[in-house]
Amino acid sequence: MKQQKKTFKEKLKNEMLKSGQFYVKLCFTILFAVIFVVIFVSNNGFNYCYATIYGNNFQSNPFQIHFIDVGRGDCILIKLPTNQTMLIDTGEEEYSLRVCEYITQYMIAEDMDKVDYFLITHPDTDHIGGALKIMQTFEVVNFLRPPVISISEYERGSYPEYGYDETYTYDNVINYAYQNQITMHFAIDGMSLNLGECKITCLSPTEEVKQSSNNYSVVLMIEYQNKKFLFMGDCENSIESRIVDKYGNNLNADLLKVGHHGSNTSTSQKLLDAVKPQYAVISTDGNSQYFPNAKVIERLNNANSQVLSTAKMGTILFTIEDNNIVFAKATRPPNYLAIIFACFLTIVLIVWENPFKNLNMPYFQKKIAK
Ligand SMILES: [Zn+2]
Repeated sequence: MKQQKKTFKEKLKNEMLKSGQFYVKLCFTILFAVIFVVIFVSNNGFNYCYATIYGNNFQSNPFQIHFIDVGRGDCILIKLPTNQTMLIDTGEEEYSLRVCEYITQYMIAEDMDKVDYFLITHPDTDHIGGALKIMQTFEVVNFLRPPVISISEYERGSYPEYGYDETYTYDNVINYAYQNQITMHFAIDGMSLNLGECKITCLSPTEEVKQSSNNYSVVLMIEYQNKKFLFMGDCENSIESRIVDKYGNNLNADLLKVGHHGSNTSTSQKLLDAVKPQYAVISTDGNSQYFPNAKVIERLNNANSQVLSTAKMGTILFTIEDNNIVFAKATRPPNYLAIIFACFLTIVLIVWENPFKNLNMPYFQKKIAK
């Protein structure tokens, strides 16, 4: 065996010295590069580079809220204390793969296998663009939707009392839910869910027909351990005003998911006076002066709210620890395997190609001459 090894080494050396030095080097370089690519791909290297960073900061905590960064759009993943999952909106379609990857990582980490409640707040694409992909990828147990009918429902004459959305994106989502017999519920003011110690109440919309799609937004209040979380969708001032008139001081909440990505059409002083949020989360990309609007930020600052935006922080996570709300920016552990193999490949290429050979350095020249 030893003899064989020696012969191989000698043969290789002779080969390189004689004629094929360049090609031998090239073959080995290609071999190492292929090994690296295979290992990188088989270890989810591409997903690691391009996926939305999964936030595992509060892993195994029974209550978690993940504001997933989907640019100017909403996508909120909630782990409920009943060991169930709720997803509110999905962002634009272009984010759907990243959102699916994020939810998959969440499910692995939390030992979950389905989306128990999937809520679409209203038919705009920055909220439902990825909804079809979500329903195709995960088992959705309950599908919650606003009282807005799709093109197909309109043609069938279903729910004539509700408003109507003309987009095919919404129509496809609703049709998919019918075809796959996913249990559908209309989320309407007054509806509530009691899930263990957690109570979820719907504060809007009412059943009346609205002028703008934003005003169909489903507004939710989630209460858990004496903490309250208010999700406004894209509601505008007129709806905020109605909610404040109806619910008054009951709107007081620790966290406000700011309406309509921080636009000045929402987050009125009237709403802030009633909610008085400790934290205000804005889901936006920061590429426009209107989302968020400086006046909204000023109103939130004056209300002593800590403003957090996905544009600045990426994905943001919240939980409750020792009766306090805590938050964190989603961080990603380094992919050690990829780093080790990148270092390994670099060393192999340097040693093999010997980049010093062309330099006028007597030490290396000497070595090479040997
Ligand atoms: Zn929106």
